[in-house]
Amino acid sequence: MIDLHSHTNESDGTCSPAQLVAEAHRAGVTILGITDHDTFKGYDAALPAAAEAGLELICGIELSTKLHGHSVHLLGYFLGGQDLDEFRTWILGQQAERRDRNRRLAVRLQELGFDITLAEAEARGRGMTGRPHFAQILVEKGYVANLRQAFDDYLDESAKGYVFRSEPQFADGVARIRAAGGIASLAHPVRVKGDIAALMPELCASGLNAIEAYHSDHTEEDTRLYLGLASQHGLRVTGGSDYHGAIKPSVALGTGYDGNLRIPEDLVDRLRG
Ligand code: AMP
Ligand code: FE
Ligand code: FE
Ligand code: ZN
Repeated sequence: MIDLHSHTNESDGTCSPAQLVAEAHRAGVTILGITDHDTFKGYDAALPAAAEAGLELICGIELSTKLHGHSVHLLGYFLGGQDLDEFRTWILGQQAERRDRNRRLAVRLQELGFDITLAEAEARGRGMTGRPHFAQILVEKGYVANLRQAFDDYLDESAKGYVFRSEPQFADGVARIRAAGGIASLAHPVRVKGDIAALMPELCASGLNAIEAYHSDHTEEDTRLYLGLASQHGLRVTGGSDYHGAIKPSVALGTGYDGNLRIPEDLVDRLRG
């Protein structure tokens, strides 16, 4: 089984890199892509465990970019070209932007009357603290019933606690991934705001290589739509569960929600091809 979208606790997942590999092995995943937000730390740390378990690990990353003012996630795979050092330096800048956003987010949530500090959030997320960590605290302190409500009422782009974060433009993200020898895939296209079919020519003109047609949030109909767009525009196809561990306990590695994810066994061969 293949799963090309997963997170460790080096970003907003809950499993350590070694735990993620063990869970993938247990679940029958033989090719695993680790796609932490803005960092390779999880991938780097998982390599020894993967070698021991006989699991093929694919180097990946998930970037947050801006497209027409909205946040769009971009996956990068097989990064490893000569300019990888430059890319690794560039993502340190993304991490600094994130830290600055987190500082302003804590202030904003305090303004809204919540007892929540940056230090509390950073104790959970360490170097890659994100909104999901703030959401967990809001739940635990009883301010909201669950993570969904935390996002809907306070943290989502359209909610009252949202604070702006400087993110690269979509086309810049694609160019950075490609310059580092990687291929760029549009993550969970179902979350892209607006008419995806109408946006495709622009995304392709940016140099996009692939689209994540298989994702645990996609219905069969969604997947058919994205496979059709991929073939229409000559894009390759990626897929994964977007596993985050205990923070999203109903999503399983390789199979998604109750087996709704069915990634073809030849996906990685086609991707490399
Ligand atoms: P950040 O990178 O800190 O801005 O946080 C973004 C992460 O929060 C995403 O990768 C998702 O895991 C999560 N997220 C964003 N929007 C929502 C939402 N509406 N509901 C649940 N999780 C979300
Ligand atoms: Fe995430
Ligand atoms: Fe994402
Ligand atoms: Zn993800």
